Amino acid sequence: AFDLLVVGGGPAGASAAIYAARKGIRTGVVADRFGGQVLDTVGIENFISVKATEGPKLVSSLEEHVRDYNVDIITNQTASKVIAAEQVGDLIEVELESGAKLKSRSLVLATGARWREMNVPGEKEYRGAGVAYCPHCDGPLFKGKKVAVIGGGNSGIEAAVDLAGIVEHVTVLEFDSKLRADEVLQRKARSMGNIDMITEAMTTEVVGDGERVTGLTYTDRSSGESKSIELAGIFVQIGLVPNTEFLKGDVELTQRGEIITSAQGETSIPGVFAAGDVTDSPYKQIIIAMGSGATASLGAFDYLIRTPVV
Ligand code: FAD
Repeated sequence: AFDLLVVGGGPAGASAAIYAARKGIRTGVVADRFGGQVLDTVGIENFISVKATEGPKLVSSLEEHVRDYNVDIITNQTASKVIAAEQVGDLIEVELESGAKLKSRSLVLATGARWREMNVPGEKEYRGAGVAYCPHCDGPLFKGKKVAVIGGGNSGIEAAVDLAGIVEHVTVLEFDSKLRADEVLQRKARSMGNIDMITEAMTTEVVGDGERVTGLTYTDRSSGESKSIELAGIFVQIGLVPNTEFLKGDVELTQRGEIITSAQGETSIPGVFAAGDVTDSPYKQIIIAMGSGATASLGAFDYLIRTPVV
């Protein structure tokens, strides 16, 4: 059995594993896909101390760093259930889809999240070439250009306000007949002068020149008319879904499905900690995920030294 088993091999999981291994405790990582969302990222310019890098490059450094320690890395395995110990201090079980079970005295859940996609033609093709999901990450790439934000909820309008300070113009497209964002955010957006907000707009296609996005088409749901807009970037803000389906009913989650964590990364199960995008902590970023991985790992270590083995 492990002393600490990390579920998830993104930046949060990698950081948790390194912090645990450095304490000399028996550490494992089980992940679907080592690297997580970073594998899907093209340019990264906000990982502090590294001016610019690319997702796959950062993932290989992460993996090299983890492999420098005595950590068992199990990839291509998906966790399907977490079973709490019968008694605090006893072993916690992680069931895998393959049917295997892993046991550990403590866990760090770091299964991340995924951006909800529009599922329209061109979206996948131009991902990283104009189609973006993170305004904090990619906003500056569109300096002085025209962009759209898909989604008029809080994250969409926040993104529009954020981007409007950098880009030339922002068009917000909302499917519904009204924006769902808080009134105070809508007011802020209306005050900016370079944000248009269109409701009842169903995005139908991302248009490009084979290399980069050049525009999008949408259907005006009130008239049924098809319209197009020329632009350089499209920020999709229709939801970030935490990968917690396998924890429902066992670990306490927010209404949005995020794991509720304490300042030490504790969850509702003793000995089970969580870190990164899968938790209810705000601002989903690599640097934040790594910090919270360290926190959760140190929290788990504290738990281990205070909890007698039963
Ligand atoms: P993730 O990276 O999501 O990793 C989750 C891990 O858990 C993966 O290994 C996955 O395979 C595994 N997993 C999931 N479910 C299971 C399961 N049931 N069983 C086993 N394993 C499981 N942030 C920045 O700071 N700068 C950027 O420039 C930037 N650009 C981005 C661009 C894109 C396109 C995207 C999608 C995100 C970007 N982000 C960026 C956000 C950043 O990638 C995330 O905040 C960060 O990766 C979160 O790390 P994490 O370890 O919490 O989760």
